[in-house]
Amino acid sequence: MFSDEDNVIDIRDKRDPNSDIQDRLNFIEEPLPPDAKRCLHSKTIVNEYDRTLICRLCGATLDPFDYLLSIAKNETRLDWNLRTIRSEIRDHREGLEKLNREEQNTRGRIKNALFKLADVNQALLDAGEALIKVKGYHGLSR
Ligand SMILES: [Zn+2]
Repeated sequence: MFSDEDNVIDIRDKRDPNSDIQDRLNFIEEPLPPDAKRCLHSKTIVNEYDRTLICRLCGATLDPFDYLLSIAKNETRLDWNLRTIRSEIRDHREGLEKLNREEQNTRGRIKNALFKLADVNQALLDAGEALIKVKGYHGLSR
C-alpha cells in the first residue's frame, strides 16, 4: 500500500544544511533580480486630489507615512552625524591647542638652551684667554 507521503518529492537542496529554514518562515522576501536597481524614490509626485504619493522615477505608489518616516530617519541620521562631526572638531581643536602649547614650551626650552650654550661658549673662550695669559703662548706645553 502507498501512503500520501510516498507521493511527495522533497525538492530541497540536500547539499544545503539550512535548506529547511525557509520552510519554517511565514514570509519570505523575494530577492531582487541581480541586474535590478533599487529605486530610492528620491523624486515624487504628490497628488492632492487622490491623496497619493508616486515615485517619479519608478512609478511606484508610496505609502506617505513610510515616506515621511524615511525622511525623518535621514534627518535623525544627519543630526547624529553633525553631532559626531562637531565633537570631532572640538577634539581636534583641543589637540591643536595642546600642540601649540607644546610648541611654545619647546621654543622656550630651545631659547634657554641657546642662552646656556652661549654662556658655556663664553666661559670656554674666557678660560682659553686665561690659559693663554698664564702660559704666555698658544699651544700645548710639554
Ligand atoms: Zn522609485
